Amino acid sequence: MRLKIAVIPGDGIGPEVVAATLPVLHAAARAEGAELDVLDLDWGGERHLRTGSPMPEDAAKIISDRSAVLFGAVGRPDVPDHELVWGLIIALRQQLDLAVNLRPVRSWDGVPTALRDDRDVDLLIVRENTEGEYAGVGGRVHRGRPGELGVEVAVHSRPVIERAARHAFQAAQGRSGRLALVTKSNAMRFGYTLWDAVVEEIAAEFPDVECEHVLVDAMAARMIQKPRGLDVLLCSNLFGDILSDLAAVLAGGMGMAPSANVAPGRTPGIYEPVHGSAPDIVGRGVANPVACMLSGAMLLEDSGLPKAAARVRDAIAEALRDPANHTPDIGGSGTTDRLAEAVLGGLG
Ligand code: NAD
Ligand code: MN
Repeated sequence: MRLKIAVIPGDGIGPEVVAATLPVLHAAARAEGAELDVLDLDWGGERHLRTGSPMPEDAAKIISDRSAVLFGAVGRPDVPDHELVWGLIIALRQQLDLAVNLRPVRSWDGVPTALRDDRDVDLLIVRENTEGEYAGVGGRVHRGRPGELGVEVAVHSRPVIERAARHAFQAAQGRSGRLALVTKSNAMRFGYTLWDAVVEEIAAEFPDVECEHVLVDAMAARMIQKPRGLDVLLCSNLFGDILSDLAAVLAGGMGMAPSANVAPGRTPGIYEPVHGSAPDIVGRGVANPVACMLSGAMLLEDSGLPKAAARVRDAIAEALRDPANHTPDIGGSGTTDRLAEAVLGGLG
């Protein structure tokens, strides 16, 4: 089997974690008799400075024949964040209609969690990925004047909610059978009451999944106080963004959290660490590559290579048991290269 993927290393530590990940993915695929054919794309902040745009206009077409995309991160101090976030990652999510963002978070043996008594965390955040508070609808009125207004309109549509909800219920069936819908429907009376209603309807199709509705503020507290009872969290775009950083840090840190942007039933998806370009540590060789490697494992899993994905996860688990392999973000003094070599070595 030959798996055609595209790789967008991007900015900051993006290229560092992607460089640590690719040999691991090649080795795991090869062990299952598959070859990765990699199209390397120079999209991101540097291209934006050079050409005025972080990616070409026909970006979606360029990657359309690829099964999947591995993306590092974008963001650099000399380019306004919104240019790259809107010009690249949000644009690609919308152009490829990547409706669902999956963000699994778990704790690992040997890696301290942020919880007081170091309990296990194992959550899957299913984030709606194309609209909600990030729909891009709104405007600035009376610019620079005393009465200036910034209006951001949250858009929640039934088909998009249905799509994300079905995906979340199916994921819950494959996990513990528990799902929590996260809203703020007590204070926001239109969009989030629609979420409540649509999810109730979908819940009827999945009688084997236990579904509760939780307000986002209460959920933030509960994730810290008793994360054990939680499994799949179904979230709007904004709440999913916020709670997945919280979940990542609970379970070990931003350097450990992977994600997948998928269009259910279609390719290509985009697989990326949750973290950004981390300009504060770039070039020091200490970025934690695990989030990117785990994103790569999700890519292999969704591309028909679940055994290769399991190999990657097992090798990561083994490497993390030795604190000498830990990067500073998870309390060690190791380097990106050392951790990457340990994972690669564990693949045999
Ligand atoms: P960030 O995730 O880049 O960094 C937050 C903190 O976590 C920093 O202290 C950083 O050093 C640490 N960190 C993150 N990833 C790490 C890793 N793999 N190993 C070790 N430590 C790690 O978030 P930020 O500082 O808010 O944003 C920096 C830039 O990244 C901004 O330009 C922002 O717009 C961009 N960003 C991009 C994406 C994306 O490309 N999808 C996502 C978030 C932020
Ligand atoms: Mn985020």
